Amino acid sequence: VSSGGPALPVVEVFGPTLQGEGRVIGLRTMFVRLAGCDWACSWCDTPYAWRPGDLAPPERLGAPAILERLAQLDAACRRVTLSGGNPALHDCGPLVAALHGRGYAVHVETQGSRAPAWLGSADSVTVSPKGPSSGMPPDWEGLAATLRVAADPDLKVVVFDGADLDFALEVRRRHPGLPLTLQAGNRVGRDGEAELLGRLRWLAGAALARPELGDVRVLPQLHVLLWGNRRGA
Ligand code: SF4
Repeated sequence: VSSGGPALPVVEVFGPTLQGEGRVIGLRTMFVRLAGCDWACSWCDTPYAWRPGDLAPPERLGAPAILERLAQLDAACRRVTLSGGNPALHDCGPLVAALHGRGYAVHVETQGSRAPAWLGSADSVTVSPKGPSSGMPPDWEGLAATLRVAADPDLKVVVFDGADLDFALEVRRRHPGLPLTLQAGNRVGRDGEAELLGRLRWLAGAALARPELGDVRVLPQLHVLLWGNRRGA
């Protein structure tokens, strides 16, 4: 362990790009994607971050090397999104501290299965529990624990069908005070623009038909509409 903290398994560092999801959608940001996930969602859009056979050996980088990469890509951007996989599997506390030291705002994306204390040192955390279409069982305790430690959390649920929408309602019922985004699902490699927009239209109508979901955001994945399902966007 160096002064920069533990080396982290980095799949990709990229940007600047537009944050494509959730409450921070549309903001210019850099991305640091870490390897490894404790779940295996059927429709995962980043299998190259964790799935055996898709995962390329990650680079082991400490905070100083990650800061250098970020500065090379964009010396001005001061927003970073830590994503995965599940970045909560790793000790990112020293990286968050190093990023703050350089003036970065740090946003984290995680699914709510692990609740390391460092999630409280980020600036904001989007927690995205997975609905029935993911093939993963709900982890309500993990979600509650994550939301207890996460800094300025918001919730995001990917929706493909009515069962996912029911799941989103249950998320809303359990955590009524938090911002909630419903994100139209995306099957990487199968959905084109027409399918994605069709699902977004269905979701918009379905959400509008449920008064209990009156204060949610309904969104697509902005980066996918702009640039398709390619890596590094
Ligand atoms: S939790 Fe996220 S990264 Fe992990 S398998 Fe599911 S969608 Fe993929």
